[in-house]
Amino acid sequence: MVFLCVSLKEIMIRKVARITSIVLIVSLVLPLSTFANDLVVYSARKEHLITPIFQAYTAKTGVEIEFTTGKEAALVQRILSEGKRTPADILITVDAGNLWYAAEAGILKSVQSNTLEANIPSHLRDPENRWFGLSVRARTIVYHSGRVSPGTLSTYEALADPEWKGRLILRTSKKVYNQSLVAMMIQDIGLDNTKKVISGWVGNLAVPPLSSDTKVMEAIDSGVGDVGIVNTYYFGRLLKKNPRLPLKLYWPNQETTGVHVNVSGAGVTSHAKHPEAAVAFLEWVSSEEAQNLFADVNMEYPVNPQNQANSVVQAWGDFKANPRNVASAGQYQGEAIRLMDEAGYK
Ligand code: FE
Repeated sequence: MVFLCVSLKEIMIRKVARITSIVLIVSLVLPLSTFANDLVVYSARKEHLITPIFQAYTAKTGVEIEFTTGKEAALVQRILSEGKRTPADILITVDAGNLWYAAEAGILKSVQSNTLEANIPSHLRDPENRWFGLSVRARTIVYHSGRVSPGTLSTYEALADPEWKGRLILRTSKKVYNQSLVAMMIQDIGLDNTKKVISGWVGNLAVPPLSSDTKVMEAIDSGVGDVGIVNTYYFGRLLKKNPRLPLKLYWPNQETTGVHVNVSGAGVTSHAKHPEAAVAFLEWVSSEEAQNLFADVNMEYPVNPQNQANSVVQAWGDFKANPRNVASAGQYQGEAIRLMDEAGYK
């Protein structure tokens, strides 16, 4: 009886051990097998802007794409803390400043692809091939068409002139878009000149900096100020909501450095489980076939020179863009933040 009890106990233990090992094996294999033949994307670009491109890719190739959206910094942290176990193959985000930050954090790997190099102009991708611009946005001057004559506008720098006192509206310096704009200005005109410009902007503000580009335009519309600096697609969105919006875009620095452009883009993660599939997807997004699908949904410019912006975006007019590599937005981000702080730009 005692013997029987012991052997039963042994059998039970063995069974538990076997079940435990099966559970262990399953739990080790499952996170990978769940995503087998799939692609996993972490995206700081909003869900409604990325699902059309994912659906089109799945329809074309059969590749299922799992995705998670979140805030930029949180996604980078998540990939960092997941380390080698991360299911993420691709990180999609906006602004070269953010892409540069992710690359510096070590979560993106260098990718060699002739297709990406052919489809994407070199100044719109990382010189070390860790990320690639997939659409372009311009950060430009917006003005009230009733109260401002475009002939009185010229450059970003000139918004520091006394004639704009109490008329300028800006978004907060905490936003990466402004950090990137100032970072590139530092390289174009130098630290001292940039500081003078930023101090001049601050002195010309009609109200303390606002929290969004849309609020900047709404403040101009309602007469709080006359000029501001915004990303083109926010202008497009507001114009769609209110076709009678008395605001217009102005392309500054046409005789000098060109309009500040930035990208939304993506990179393959350092520990991607499907690196070839990830590169294939990015190659497709950069292709003539997919570029308008990716850019038009957010009223952005295609990154591939073979493609044209859609008619709504084209109606805003042609401009000369700053040809400097957008990676420099990241390289000088720290200096830009310090300089804006010193100049009192909140
Ligand atoms: Fe934005």
